[in-house]
Amino acid sequence: MLLSKSKYMKGLQCDRLLWFDSRKKLPEYSEADKMKFEEGHDFEEYAHKLFPKGVNLTDKDFGNNLKKTKKAIENKQTCFEAGVAFNNYYSRSDILEYKNNAWNLYEIKSSNDKKPEHIEDLAFQKFILESIGLKIKNIYVITLNRDFVKKGKIDPKELTKIHDVTSEVNHITAVEQRAKRFFNIILSEDIPEIDLSRSCNSPYECPLKDQCWSSLPENNVFLLTNHHQYWKWFHAGIEDLKDVPMDELKPKDEIITKATLKKKPYVNKEEIKKFLDDLKYPLYHFDFETFQSGVPKFDNTKPWQQIPFQYSLHVQDEDNNVIHYEFLSDSDKDPRKALLEQLQTEIGTEGDIIVFNQTFEIKRFEELARDFPEHKEWINKVISRIVDLASPFNRFLYYNPKQEGSKSLKKVLPALTDRSHNELEITNGGDASALFYYSHIKNEIKKTKELRENLLKYCELDTEAMILIVNKLKELVE
Ligand code: SF4
Repeated sequence: MLLSKSKYMKGLQCDRLLWFDSRKKLPEYSEADKMKFEEGHDFEEYAHKLFPKGVNLTDKDFGNNLKKTKKAIENKQTCFEAGVAFNNYYSRSDILEYKNNAWNLYEIKSSNDKKPEHIEDLAFQKFILESIGLKIKNIYVITLNRDFVKKGKIDPKELTKIHDVTSEVNHITAVEQRAKRFFNIILSEDIPEIDLSRSCNSPYECPLKDQCWSSLPENNVFLLTNHHQYWKWFHAGIEDLKDVPMDELKPKDEIITKATLKKKPYVNKEEIKKFLDDLKYPLYHFDFETFQSGVPKFDNTKPWQQIPFQYSLHVQDEDNNVIHYEFLSDSDKDPRKALLEQLQTEIGTEGDIIVFNQTFEIKRFEELARDFPEHKEWINKVISRIVDLASPFNRFLYYNPKQEGSKSLKKVLPALTDRSHNELEITNGGDASALFYYSHIKNEIKKTKELRENLLKYCELDTEAMILIVNKLKELVE
């Protein structure tokens, strides 16, 4: 068994995560996670083009990759996917460049900027490369250039940004010591005993969270909103909400704590009534679904720009008559123009546009107005009509213990009604996005009638949920 770069990175997050990973006992990745990994591969191809003389050493066979790398290094050849093993450690470097009698090391990351974990990753690679006798001069992270806008054929130089991180990587000195400790963990028969900590969410949400966090009491301090305070209490041994000092709670957390302990929803009827009385009918309940790609797919888009490909719109009048409209792109072309043209005919000119978490929808509309200036005027009017249905929940005018500390639509809906996204095939926006992307844009999975129906049902429930929530809030204040 070898300690690879990815295992080293898991060890930096948590010993227990490393141990489970080394035994291939981590839960399956979601569709959305798989999409992120694939995006990384797409970007690599562009980064490689920055090194026209580079040779690609990719080889499914581990031993062959090591042999090819040894030869490339002997020949002082710039290479991609350079696999190197030393003692019990192994790393594969994205790019090793031979220049001016020394080697430069590059890590390709499809993010819009360099991150602290990239530096740690490179420090491990540098340790192994230097251990086999290479002189590493400069160290870089190649990321996407966040300001790049696609206009026709992509120029790899414009798409990428190269960050010199040599001094940051050289500052990290404890690599060998850590690597030894991590290697002992993967050899050990015993599961490491680890306390929950902020590492469970950083730098990535740990895939073992459901398992590890299930040991907490049902009404635990992590239901609260104040991160600083709940970690302080947790480290002081206070795990159960019944034990928290009530006089130290912030108002929102006091609402959560009291509602949870009394097992009864908190309702601020007066403020909810004001919110409902201010609504201007007909209500246009609206929701976008979007996908993102690191390397932009369409002209006039940037890396990781959210591209709306679907919407659901329920129009509700004061007598609760409801009409449903929907849009779901059916091709691999830029869906935005057709989406806007249809939406303009359906979204009316009067009445509030109800969304859940307005920041996301407003940002999408602003981007659409920027990228399609011919639609700017009516889009700006749409933005001015937006009302955020998440607001009563963000302001804790209503809190139900069934929300389990969350204010998301996915938690509010089943807390208030007998409906839930769990009744659907697609249960979250990340998976909807990934399924559309692979079936319609990349054509890697079949665009079946069933898949399209599932996408439509998913988005439809988001806006139907908003009607149900408005109606339920009305009942509560009557
Ligand atoms: S959930 Fe936390 S304690 Fe459990 S393995 Fe992950 S990081 Fe470690």
